[in-house]
Order: sequence, then C-alpha cells, then structure tokens
Amino acid sequence: MSERGGVPAGGIPPGGLFIDGQWTPARSAATFATLDPSTEETVARVARGGPADVDDAVRAARAAFAGPCRRMAPVDRALLLTRAARTLESRAEEFAILETRDTGKPLSLSRSEIRGCVRYFDYYAGAADKIQGETVPLGPDYLDYTVREPCGVTAHITPWNAPLSMVCRSLAPALAAGNTAVVKPAEQAPLTALALADVLREAGWPAGAYNVVTGFGGEAGAALSGHPGIDSLTFTGSVPTGRAVLRAAGENITPVLLELGGKSPQIVFDDADLDHAADEIAKGIFTNAGQYCDAGSRLLVHTAVHGPLLERLAERTARLRVGPGMDDPDVGPLISAAQRDRVLGYIDAGRSAGAHVVAGAADFPKGYFVAPTLLDGVRPDMLVAREEIFGPVLAVLTFGGDDEAAELADATDYGLAAGIHTRDVDRALRFARDVRAGYVMVNEYFTGGVESPFGGSGHSGYGRERGLAALDNYTRLRNVVVRIKGDERP
Ligand code: ADP
Repeated sequence: MSERGGVPAGGIPPGGLFIDGQWTPARSAATFATLDPSTEETVARVARGGPADVDDAVRAARAAFAGPCRRMAPVDRALLLTRAARTLESRAEEFAILETRDTGKPLSLSRSEIRGCVRYFDYYAGAADKIQGETVPLGPDYLDYTVREPCGVTAHITPWNAPLSMVCRSLAPALAAGNTAVVKPAEQAPLTALALADVLREAGWPAGAYNVVTGFGGEAGAALSGHPGIDSLTFTGSVPTGRAVLRAAGENITPVLLELGGKSPQIVFDDADLDHAADEIAKGIFTNAGQYCDAGSRLLVHTAVHGPLLERLAERTARLRVGPGMDDPDVGPLISAAQRDRVLGYIDAGRSAGAHVVAGAADFPKGYFVAPTLLDGVRPDMLVAREEIFGPVLAVLTFGGDDEAAELADATDYGLAAGIHTRDVDRALRFARDVRAGYVMVNEYFTGGVESPFGGSGHSGYGRERGLAALDNYTRLRNVVVRIKGDERP
C-alpha cells in the first residue's frame, strides 16, 4: 500500500495514539475494533488509551503551549490554519470515505461534513489575528487595557454522530486563539480524528499542538475530563455523560462547555407552505438518520393542516432510500447495535402508548438499520414526546392555537433548536423571540453555518460554538491597569 504523509492511501490512519507529533501504541498495548455500521465488519483496530496515555498527551500539549505555540504570532496561526484547510480540502474524498465507513452515513453527507470542516479552518484562520482587547476609560491618569489570551491546554471530548465535524468545530477556534489541544474522539468512530493529525502536521503545526487519545469514555474520557492539567474542556454528547464530565471537571474547577442533546420542535402553522414545510421537516429528522443533536424530532402541527401535511410527509418518508453509506442512500444505518435497539425500543414504546406508526422500509441482512418512522397521534405526556430518541423517528403532535403551540414547544427539559414554518412574519418573530431554544430557524431547517453561534439551554447545555462567539470559550480576559504619573493636576 502506498503511503502519503504517513497515512496509507486507503485513508486508514496508522494504529496508535497521536501524542507529541508521533504515532504511539497505548501504554497498555491494548487495542479495540471500530466497525462499519453498514456491514458490521471491522474497519480498523485502534489504540485503547487510558489514564497514563492521557497524562502523556496533556504533558505534550502543555509543552507545546509553553514553547512553539506561545511564540507563534497570530498571523502565523492564521497561515497554519489556512494550510490545514487546503490540505484537508485536497484530501476531502479520502476523509469522506473514511467517515462513511466509520459511521455508516451516506457518502454525500460525509462529503458535506468534510466541506464544513474545511470551512471551520478557513473561518477561524480569518479570526486568528482579530482576537483583540479593548481599552477601558478610567480617565487621563490611567491606561486600562484588556488582553484576550489563550487558556492553555484545551480538551475536546467528541461524539460519533459527526465525528470530524465535532472535532473541527471546537479545535479550529481553540488553535486560532493560541491554545493546544487533546482530543478524545468517540470510540465508535475515531478514525477521521486520527487522520486529521496528519493534515495538521503537514500544514506545519508543531508537535504537541494536536494530540489524539482514542479509547473508551469510562477510561480515556474520564481521565481527560478529570485531568488537572487541562485549562478548558469542550464536551459534546449525551446528558448523563455531560453530568459525569461536569462532575469530574468540577474537582479541578476546569471551565466546561456542554453541548448536549435536544428534542427540537418543528412548528407548522396553518398558513405555512406545506410542500416546502414537508421537505424541511423530513430533512430535519431523517438527515444522518436523525443522529444530530439539533434534529427536528418533534413536529408540532396546527390541527387544520395536520391531514395534508402528514400525507405529504408519509409520501416523502416512503420515497427515502435506506442503505449502506457507501451506496450513498438518503438514510444510512445507525451507529451501533445498541443505538438501533434503543431507537426500536422507543418506537415500540410509542406504539404501546397509542401512537400511530407510519414507517418506510429497511430490510437488510447486516447493518444497524432502522426504517424512517413517523409516530402520529403523540400526546405530550408520552415518553416519545419528551425524550431524545436520536434516530430517524418523528413524534407528531397537534395544537389548536399559538398559545398551545408555544406551550408544547417548551414542554421538554431541552432548549437547543426550533424550526418555525409560517408566512406570517410577526408570528415567526414572536416565536423566535419567546421559544426556549438557542438556535431558531424560520422556514428552513439546518440553516445557518459556521458563522452562526450554536448552543442551547436547560439540559441541552451551555456555551456557544461556531461564529466569533466560540472564541470566548478558548480565551481568557486579562485586565491591566497602569497609573500614569508625572502630570498630577492641583
Ligand atoms: P453516547 O452515549 O451516545 O455514546 P456519550 O455522551 O456517552 O454518547 O459519548 C460522547 C463522548 O463522551 C464519547 O467520546 C465518549 O467516549 C465520551 N464519554 C463517555 N463516557 C464518558 C465519561 N464517563 N467521561 C468522559 N467522557 C466520556
């Protein structure tokens, strides 16, 4: 197999952790398999990092922060991020294939996520030399200025649903601001985070700026979140794990950004364009087989348009092509057998509670497939109306007026995203103002981009990723006051 910059042409990174610019086995020498969810076959074996490996990675990141990264001018960080963008762009297809094999997601979706990763590097490259302080007016006898300095070693614990995208989303602003990083990717899909090491090395990032410790959550993840040597922690994942991470980080008073789950409503009023709304709703729940934290997993529809909208949705659901990621279907498999069983359990729970199940087809001898499913006739007290399913399952509820819609929209513990479908601009702006959500989309789901700050409230977490707002997570403000003497007035 030919090699290019250390990564075989097939795109599988060398087995090992990436610490201090080197590929190295776990200290325990243990490894584990990562599977292709479309075929259930092993894609690669990966090092099973533990606490000692996390220690090594944090030490390397600390040394890089104290050394070459601290000395780097912002304009040079911008240049290295731009180079990373170009290198990743030139290898985008290789990364898309790797992502699809590791997650099962449709190839086109992987391509679009990798384009998003390139965009993160470009966007934050543009920001690196614009992270400015201010002067504070204390009068003529003082100079008070602020400096936005890097935190130091940043830790990133990422999920499997959009593996490289979730790494780049927090890594790019962290590096732009002058930090170094230790990444613990999800054990279900760690390959692109490893392959990225090669991109960053080729771009010229110094050894220790980017470190990857693969391994299990309870081992490598727990060790990283409780490590006293990290200065900031970004966690994206489930609510129970978010709590565990927060507790572990609390021991060291490490600042934490939490991007957790959601049960985001898509609200359709009786004046909406139903054909367009049906397209957006199907996209909002079936893209990535519903495995996005901001999936629009609850449809709240006005009773007057419930019939015609459901008809359109059922027709779109039946048309979806389900299949292995490499065949580039509309909907791929779920990430694991456990996740598939969990989602099937929710569908059963909905059916038992009286929901009407309208499902597409997904009949495969292998792979963790779940048919795209509509649960109609869901009542607000049902489990499927309140809990995050994280699969291609839409819970459909109805409302009679705007007040009821507003009440239903806020009737979960989450507060991440909300979609609003209406032609009435006042109604759209009223809901956008009042709904409990950090990210509101009117008449188009999954809209916005790398530029748009993203995050939630309640059990969805706190802090904002993307946009210039994300830089706040990776900088600390220092205030300096200087007394100017020699010009005292009487
Ligand atoms: P899921 O349950 O859907 O797999 P998690 O929230 O558990 O999602 O996983 C998100 C990330 O958190 C993964 O990288 C995982 O390995 C990590 N993780 C899991 N458990 C812990 C833990 N106790 N401490 C730190 N990280 C963890």
